[in-house]
Amino acid sequence: PVDGGPVRFAVLGLGWFAPDVAIPAIEESDYCETTVVVSGGREKAERVAEEKGVAHALTYDDYADGEASDAYDAVYVCTPNALHLPHVETAAELGKDVLCEKPLEANGERARKCVEACEAGGVELMTAYRMHTTRSIRWVRDVVQDGAIGDPVHARGAFSYNLIAAGEDMDQWRLNPDLAGGGPLMDLGVYPMNTSRFVLDADPEAVHATTVEGPPEFDGLEKYVAFTMEFPDGQVAECDSGYEVAGDNYFEVGGTHGRIRVDVPFNVDADRTITVSKGGEEQVVEVEEPSEMVEEFDYFATGVLTDMEIEPDGRHGYEDMRIADAIYESGESGGRIEL
Ligand code: NDP
Repeated sequence: PVDGGPVRFAVLGLGWFAPDVAIPAIEESDYCETTVVVSGGREKAERVAEEKGVAHALTYDDYADGEASDAYDAVYVCTPNALHLPHVETAAELGKDVLCEKPLEANGERARKCVEACEAGGVELMTAYRMHTTRSIRWVRDVVQDGAIGDPVHARGAFSYNLIAAGEDMDQWRLNPDLAGGGPLMDLGVYPMNTSRFVLDADPEAVHATTVEGPPEFDGLEKYVAFTMEFPDGQVAECDSGYEVAGDNYFEVGGTHGRIRVDVPFNVDADRTITVSKGGEEQVVEVEEPSEMVEEFDYFATGVLTDMEIEPDGRHGYEDMRIADAIYESGESGGRIEL
C-alpha cells in the first residue's frame, strides 16, 4: 500500500480508449481516481462525466487555462498522436505528472519537446506502453535475461490490422499524416519495436526498412512497413506492421539454446499463449493476465506517490520516435540508417 493516494487524474480525449478502457481501469485500480474529463466538446465532456461519475467536465481550452487544476494531480493524455505535445506542455506548466499514450508524439522532434517540457516543469512523464506491465511479456523478458534460451540472438514481432477490410472510416485521424505522424508504424508497429527493446534490454544502433505506400485515401502514409533494428551486441529485431494485413500479432525471441514465442501479445487485455521451444521439446503455457491497464495506472501512481523511478519514461518513448523517424528515412532512401 502507498500512503497519500489516490492520484487524481484529468483524462484528456474521450474517444474509444479513454472512456472504454482507461477510465474503467482507473476505477478498478487501488491508487487512482478520475476527477476530471477533458474533451473538444463541452456537452460530450459533461455526458461522459455524468456517465462515469466524474466531478469535473472541461474543454481543452478550459484545461489550457488551468481551470479546476486543484481537482487533479496527474494528466492522462489520450488524444491523437500529434495532439499530445500541447497537452503535455500544459500539464508541465501546471506542475502535473503525465501518463501519455503511445506513441509519445508524431515524430522525434515533437517527442523530444514533450520530454523537455516535463523536465523543465519538474514533473514525471511516462509513455503508456502496456507491454511493460503485461505479465507474459515481463516473464519472457525475465527468463530471456536469465539465459533460459542461451544468448538472445534475434527478436521478431508483428502487429497488423486490416482497417480497409474492416470498413473503417477513411477520414479518421489515424489516416491523417498531420495528426498521426505515420501509418501503421506509429499506431501498431511501435509495439513490436518497443517490446524488442524492452525484452532485449537494449537500444538499436541502426535500422533498415521497406515501406509500401497506401491507397490515395491514406494521404501518402504507408499501408505496410517491415523494419530491421540492429542492436549493439549483434542482436537483430525484425518487425512488421500493416493496415491491409489481417491478424498478425506475435512476438518471439530466438537464442543460442531455444526460442520463446508469445501469441496475441499486443491486443489490450487479450489471453496470451507462451510457447518455449528448447532441446527439441515444446512447452505451451496459457497465461492468465491481470488487467495490464489497471497495472499500468497503479504502477504510474506508485511512482508519483513514492520516489520510485517510472519506466518507460519520456526519454524511452522519445527513443522510439527517433527510431520511427529513421525507419521512414530508410523507407524513402532504401538505405541503412544509423541512429
Ligand atoms: P479515438 O479516435 O477513438 O479518439 C481520439 C479522441 O481524441 C477523439 O474522440 C477526440 O475526443 C479527441 N480529439 C481531439 N482532437 C481531435 C482531432 N482533431 N481529431 C480526432 N480526434 C480528436 O482514438 P483512440 O482513443 O483509439 O486513441 C487515442 C490515443 O491513444 C492515440 O495516441 C493512440 O495511439 C492511443 N491508443 C493507445 C492504446 C493502447 O493500447 N495503449 C489503444 C488505443 C489507442 P474528444 O471529442 O473528447 O475531444
